[in-house]
Amino acid sequence: MPDEANPFESLQEQIDDAAAYLDVPADVVNRLKHPERVLELTLSVELDDGTLETFRGFRSQFNGDRGPYKGGIRYHPNVSRDEVKALSGWMVYKCAVVDIPYGGGKGGIVIDPRGYSESELERVTRTFAKELRPFIGPDKDIPAPDVNTGQREMNWIKDTYEKLENTTAPGVITGKSPANGGSAGRVEATGRSVMLASREAFDYLDKDVTGATVAIQGYGNAGSVAAKLIEDLGANVVAVSDSSGAVFHPGGLDTRAVKEFKRETGSVSGYADAEEEFSNEELLTMDVDLLVPAALENAIDAELATQVEADVIVEAANGPITPDADDILTEKEVTVVPDILANAGGVTVSYFEWVQNRQRFAWTEERVNDELERIVVDAFDRLVEAYEEHDLPNFRTAAYVVAIQRVADAYRGAGSWP
Ligand code: NAD
Repeated sequence: MPDEANPFESLQEQIDDAAAYLDVPADVVNRLKHPERVLELTLSVELDDGTLETFRGFRSQFNGDRGPYKGGIRYHPNVSRDEVKALSGWMVYKCAVVDIPYGGGKGGIVIDPRGYSESELERVTRTFAKELRPFIGPDKDIPAPDVNTGQREMNWIKDTYEKLENTTAPGVITGKSPANGGSAGRVEATGRSVMLASREAFDYLDKDVTGATVAIQGYGNAGSVAAKLIEDLGANVVAVSDSSGAVFHPGGLDTRAVKEFKRETGSVSGYADAEEEFSNEELLTMDVDLLVPAALENAIDAELATQVEADVIVEAANGPITPDADDILTEKEVTVVPDILANAGGVTVSYFEWVQNRQRFAWTEERVNDELERIVVDAFDRLVEAYEEHDLPNFRTAAYVVAIQRVADAYRGAGSWP
């Protein structure tokens, strides 16, 4: 069982580790380790049977020095104040490392959505949106989807906000359906940035991506798109997994066919063209050129890290490697491209969605993909510069060095105000 690092403490540790290499005063660093405000809400919602149920909701606005707060809304029974605080902090540094003009936020409701009807979920979502309304807006705080929320919930939030404000403001939220102001390319954006980050890392390490062996943990939105696009680079995706287990073929799996099989059956297990099936733990310790954890946080803990044999890890999931595991992988000289850069495609195309909403002008998918590529490649180059210039221990520290410097510069550049 992986060790469960407290996510807020992990975030603070990552900031401290990186700040040690920077000339940013300790009092400013301390400010960057705490959210500006955390809203805690009680949502009273009538269920289909007429009874009233009370849910806890949160929205953390971590830092707004570089622009409006930005980050998703999660529906999960494990949502907690500390989790939301940590996730909102990671959004600050994710937006900063790819240099998009946003701060960081995150929200969530303590709920298992599987236990509720669609109309109940709509009332829960609209109640949350009503309570959040004074604190969000296209220039204040722009939520987005996260675990167990998607286009449907984003459309409801947009509609609630617009009705109550008596206006149209599609830029209040991103991740909407295309008919409601969503962007082309948003669904594939996270997997696309994972592919781009993998390509750039191989290039930097002078490793050939053609024929490279790849294992991918998690075959949902992020993992399955990354698998397809990495296969398109010429790599051999030899193993993929989901919560049902892992499938393997030494000659490379047909990633599109595996996705279709999962769509039909609900899991990757049982895919006929696989040569072998094994556990997720075995997948994470395979001797491959590239490992992409794309499932949950804390997937690789210290114990597992000692057995990892991959040369490069590109984090599609948020926080898949615990801080202790990170230290071990650094010692083993495994190159880790951190989540805040590798999976930033999602928030970057959310930013494009917001820009298009404000321009009232829709871009083509080609333009979205080209702009995304430019941003991810620039961010990777800047990370490598910091890594080499400061002689940093790993790419994660380099990503935080770049990001913290940008947030600190914005804060100090604004001058002081009571
Ligand atoms: P998803 O729900 O679409 O897919 C998750 C996948 O992980 C599923 O295939 C599930 O079966 C699998 N899984 C769950 N438990 C597992 C386990 N123990 N072992 C192996 N596989 C397991 O979610 P997603 O949107 O693809 O997100 C995955 C990760 O990527 C999350 O950490 C998320 O925060 C992160 N992320 C996603 C986006 C995005 O735009 N989708 C953006 C940034 C970060």
